[in-house]
Amino acid sequence: MSLKVLVVNSGSSSIKFELYQMPEEKVEARGLLQRIGEPGSELKCRIGNEELVVARSVPDHAVGLKLIMDTLTDSANGGLKDISEIGAVGHRVVHGGSAFSETVLIDDEVLKAIEERSALAPLHNPPNLLGIEVARQLLPNVPQVAVFDTAFHQTMPDYAYAYAIPWELNEQDHIRRYGFHGTSHRYVAARAARLLGRLPSETNLITCHLGNGCSITAIRRGASVDTSMGLTPLEGLVMGTRSGDIDPALFTHLARTKGLGVKEIDTLLNKKSGLLGLSGLSNDVRTLLAASKEGHGGAVRALAIYAYRIKKYIGAYTAALGTVHALVFTAGVGENSPAIRERSLDQMAPLGYRLDKAKNEQAVRREMDIAEASSPIRILVIPTNEELLIAQDTYRLAAKA
Ligand code: AMP
Repeated sequence: MSLKVLVVNSGSSSIKFELYQMPEEKVEARGLLQRIGEPGSELKCRIGNEELVVARSVPDHAVGLKLIMDTLTDSANGGLKDISEIGAVGHRVVHGGSAFSETVLIDDEVLKAIEERSALAPLHNPPNLLGIEVARQLLPNVPQVAVFDTAFHQTMPDYAYAYAIPWELNEQDHIRRYGFHGTSHRYVAARAARLLGRLPSETNLITCHLGNGCSITAIRRGASVDTSMGLTPLEGLVMGTRSGDIDPALFTHLARTKGLGVKEIDTLLNKKSGLLGLSGLSNDVRTLLAASKEGHGGAVRALAIYAYRIKKYIGAYTAALGTVHALVFTAGVGENSPAIRERSLDQMAPLGYRLDKAKNEQAVRREMDIAEASSPIRILVIPTNEELLIAQDTYRLAAKA
């Protein structure tokens, strides 16, 4: 069955989209609408081979999604003849809590459940919901599908997802590790199994998603068994502006000694920490790599702490899994930075990670095995493609519907 699938990622002030022709997996259009509700809103997109920029006032998500649909169906742009050509819509939803362990067709009950989980992701779920509501109004007779960032990690055992706090907080208040970037970890895990020539159900992996946000996942027999992000996407690795792991007593210490309030500490840990806070220079690994070559002390320090944290987690998850068939690097930094990959695997040969330095240098934004031929564990670079996975899931459920 041939179908056009629109993939929508609706954020607080932006909407990212891709239009796929399925099952061929051909991208017919993609774009990003930024600064919704702010001055200077702008839609940048590519339809076929045409690049275009539409600068227009976009006060809210309803106007934004309508602008995207109008641009896609404007005959001058050579896109769709009519909005009715869109056969299904796939939505990225950040938090599904424990309610969703897989991709689902959206109905009123699903919408209600996503809304109920908004307290767990107050910055993300409300704009995700808004995108779904507007898309349902514009395309009322088309199957709409929700793909959750948290769903892939629902297979974690309780000893991996539970925090050692009173159990009632887990049971009654749903306070536990959920994990994020699930769509990316699931995508690269499936690709890795294929590259290794193994069945996913017989493959153990450690997948490192290193972008602006960073997380690392232990996968046993195709299922997530531990992941570094927690109740929120703040826990775990050092990120662009997020601290990752800290002593939780830091919160009360900062409140007591510096008189900081909840909001200020939240901003400090989410927006002013990580690579940016450590370097005092930038959250961008490219900038920091260049600055560290020039001897910038902050950049040298930030990258050392960043790589050391990745290495520590790889070691921990190697222990958690016992047998590891491959380690996977993905996302902006993981796909593009031989330097960070090399530093994250420094002195890891005794654990089975033997990097081929020449291959590592060649692997930029392409699938490649960068381990030495004799390495007991394969080391793979795999560009992620969350949109494609959303399109595949959406196509599968829409075809059934
Ligand atoms: P993402 O969130 O996956 O788009 O990743 C964004 C991050 O990837 C940026 O903050 C950059 O630090 C990093 N990045 C992109 N290209 C490179 C590169 N060539 N070398 C090192 N880091 C890169």
